Amino acid sequence: MSKDERALGFATIAIHGKRRLHKDEPGPPVRSVSVPIYQSSTFVFESAEQGARIFAGEEEGYVYTRIGNPTQERLEIEMAFLEGAEAGLAFASGMAAISAIVFALCRSGDNLVASETIYGGTHKLFRQTLSPLAIEARELDATRLDCLERAIDSRTRLVYIETPANPTLQILDIEACAGIAHRHGLPLVVDNTFLTPYLQNPIHLGADVVVHSATKYIGGHGDTVAGVLVGKKDFVGRVRAEILRDLGGIVSPFNAWLLLRGLKTLPVRMAKHCENASEVAQFLAFHPKVSAVHYPGLRTHPQHELGLRQQRGPGGMIAFELAGGREAGRVLMNSVELWTLAVSLGDVDSLIEHPATMTHSTYSESELASAGIPPGMVRLSVGLEDVDDLVYDLKQALGRIRT
Ligand SMILES: *Cc1c(COP(=O)(O)O)cnc(C)c1O
Repeated sequence: MSKDERALGFATIAIHGKRRLHKDEPGPPVRSVSVPIYQSSTFVFESAEQGARIFAGEEEGYVYTRIGNPTQERLEIEMAFLEGAEAGLAFASGMAAISAIVFALCRSGDNLVASETIYGGTHKLFRQTLSPLAIEARELDATRLDCLERAIDSRTRLVYIETPANPTLQILDIEACAGIAHRHGLPLVVDNTFLTPYLQNPIHLGADVVVHSATKYIGGHGDTVAGVLVGKKDFVGRVRAEILRDLGGIVSPFNAWLLLRGLKTLPVRMAKHCENASEVAQFLAFHPKVSAVHYPGLRTHPQHELGLRQQRGPGGMIAFELAGGREAGRVLMNSVELWTLAVSLGDVDSLIEHPATMTHSTYSESELASAGIPPGMVRLSVGLEDVDDLVYDLKQALGRIRT
């Protein structure tokens, strides 16, 4: 490829991949268009001497799939390329990736500073699982940059944010958070699950590590659980050697292949997710039974301007509140016919769920209140169906709520 890669559009890069755009990237042995699934647990050494050299780190080569596999490695390279990072690392789940970051950076007695509105599983890891290991998670309202900075002390090892936040769609200023973290010599970790590299590149805004639940939009079809992190070569190499190898939460070759396939349609899917979600959000905003809609594409969103600055689109996730509160939400979720009542997000199917009792049931009542998750909040992952059908179904389900 003689043309500068930056001159190419995102879709071209997502479809062709670094593999086909760079002559020096190795292609598959039989010139297949699709990356092969190396469904192999172990790899043959040419000689005892070669095996010893690879183990000693004197020669590069695959050994065993927990330590490295060509299909998994392809995914890591492509994800790093799309995020604008030096290197990537794939995991069995988003939580495996997030916990690996924490274990790579924190020892007992250390602490991390995080935004308080985050995925429920991450919150549980931070507040419950890390406690007995004497690693403290200081969760706070990270829209208040002064609070964020005050929470940092000499034992802080990382700053962790999720933007837009699950489930409230609150947007945090990545550049400002990176500025604070860097002033204290700390890495900023950003969970970019809600937007994917198609809509947001935290690395370009100063983030040091970007993490994804690839289960969501990267896979995109509700059939794979996986995670990815990207960042500097040194850090990624350290996590691979010191954490992933020992804790063993690697992605399977088949799941890595599903994600590579997902990347090819990521641009068209994300564009359509944005388009459909914008229409659904508009519909909800004008419905009399809806008291609040949280969607970055609406002018009423408190960080709408910031979203326009750091994102290339509003995304496919919406949170909203019903005037009838929790009971109205229950009726709505039991009345939809086309929307699927399920957690997870980013699938081609449209999903509806109740954060307070489902994805964020790991939050106590007071934590929910502090994180801005009212008991009546409903979360939508707007899929790729015909949007008229999605709106029609919501309308009929809202009609069943008695006020
Ligand atoms: C789902 C999710 C995770 C966890 O990922 P898994 O693949 O389920 O382990 C982390 N962050 C966000 C924002 C998520 O939505």
